Amino acid sequence: MPSNSYDALIIGSGQAGNPLATALADAGQCVVLVEERQLGGSCINYGCQPVKALLASAERAHQLRTAAAFGIGNGAEPAVDLAAAVARKNQLIGELRDGVRSNLTQEHTGITVLYGHAQFTGPHTVQVTPETGAAHEIKAAKIFINTGTRAAIPAIDGLDGLPYLTTTQLLDLEELPEHLLILGGGYIGLEFGQMFRRFGSRVTIVESGTQLLEREDDDVCAALKKILEQEGVEIVLGAEVRRVSRNTAGAFTLTAHTRGGTGRRLRGSHLLVATGRTPNTDTLNLSAAGVARDEHGYIQVNSRLETNVRGIYALGDVHGGPQFTHLAYDDYRVVRANLLERGPRRSARQRPLPYCVFTDPQLGRIGLNEEQARAQGVPYRVASMPVSVIGRARETGRTEGFWKVLVGADDRLLGATILCAEGGEIMSMFQLAMAGRLKYQQLQHMVLAHPCWAEGLNNVFAKLAKPA
Ligand SMILES: Cc1cc2nc3c(=O)[nH]c(=O)nc-3n(C[C@H](O)[C@H](O)[C@H](O)COP(=O)(O)OP(=O)(O)OC[C@H]3O[C@@H](n4cnc5c(N)ncnc54)[C@H](O)[C@@H]3O)c2cc1C
Repeated sequence: MPSNSYDALIIGSGQAGNPLATALADAGQCVVLVEERQLGGSCINYGCQPVKALLASAERAHQLRTAAAFGIGNGAEPAVDLAAAVARKNQLIGELRDGVRSNLTQEHTGITVLYGHAQFTGPHTVQVTPETGAAHEIKAAKIFINTGTRAAIPAIDGLDGLPYLTTTQLLDLEELPEHLLILGGGYIGLEFGQMFRRFGSRVTIVESGTQLLEREDDDVCAALKKILEQEGVEIVLGAEVRRVSRNTAGAFTLTAHTRGGTGRRLRGSHLLVATGRTPNTDTLNLSAAGVARDEHGYIQVNSRLETNVRGIYALGDVHGGPQFTHLAYDDYRVVRANLLERGPRRSARQRPLPYCVFTDPQLGRIGLNEEQARAQGVPYRVASMPVSVIGRARETGRTEGFWKVLVGADDRLLGATILCAEGGEIMSMFQLAMAGRLKYQQLQHMVLAHPCWAEGLNNVFAKLAKPA
């Protein structure tokens, strides 16, 4: 086979592309993976993992600040060294990136990694333009697009040209902002808001909707808002920012239109724009291959992640829908099962959607919440319980939040919303129960180790009620 011709070409070293490269190579295929930035994609370099590493530093600061209540220290304000926290994060993601590199280039044979920007020149041909050096064309029988997303920047008067931050840039900031303004009350805005508040910044989150986290039930959003406000995060809802400016001293001013017609001006030293993501499809020259996108630029795929062009697939965030690492990884499983395995065909539709918002307390979610059950006309009963009644919560002083579980007419679980310390882990127990089709009584009467968070599974169903 000539050196510019491959069985499989993967564009983007994302959460789907990396494992797919090794699976295809292990199956004897000649694979090329093209990455324009860093191996490991967003999760490792500028998404999940660096954020959670910095959140761990912020949590330590919070623990120190609140330790006197546990008989430790005198409650003095901790010294936060943001540069050191960023260095720890960089060390961690460097190790993860090295792991991906070694996996692709040393632990498996048959994979060529090329660095450069890929764009289509035809349905089976792609031009790779490295940062330095000449562009060259490669051919492949099958092409897998795994190019992910980047921060979407809203069209707000004055914003263009100002030195605002995206999450990628904020992750590398080494000096603490005096006052961080955050545009967007989605999960990314909340995680960064609590993080920087705990590091010691003033934080204001500005959201155009009437509540934080648009997909969650009102009671969850209200509880999370209260928890963040108690830590000193300022939250401004229903504020549509119409103009952004920056004065000669470097301070940002957001001019917002609020409900009821009144205006509001919010001033801060730094501005984080966290208003969603946009797909990395605009520079792929998809028209040369004839690959169809939707009106937001996401690639259209069927349940097997095939695009409208035979032999071209799209995996991960780039095809739209919920954007999570575990779903991108599952896209890899779908393609692997359908192309390399003899078992039943696997679909990217109808799969469970667990997720966790890494605020403290965490918000773990699986299945239906009340709003979704109502919208879908699914009859349900709801069991809820404040976290403060759980023994483990009282012992550890982590009593904030509540659990809410929806039960269907057949006594099986429809979904769980867990706003609680370790909410992601607790939610996963409910996910397992749902996957095993357990009835709620089995959880209610199961012997569970004392005093673990899991004991809440015994108690949450005590008051199972029909919705009002
Ligand atoms: C701040 C933040 C926090 C997050 N936290 C979480 C979390 O807690 N849990 C969770 O599940 N998800 C989280 N996510 C989402 C998660 O990171 C993504 O869903 C996941 O990484 C998507 O992976 P992917 O496979 O679609 O591609 P990505 O990992 O995005 O990789 C795409 C790759 O393609 C490359 N590329 C793009 N265009 C080209 C081109 N033309 N040529 C060559 N290479 C190209 C890019 O450089 C990139 O490396 C977070 C995201 C962000 C931004």
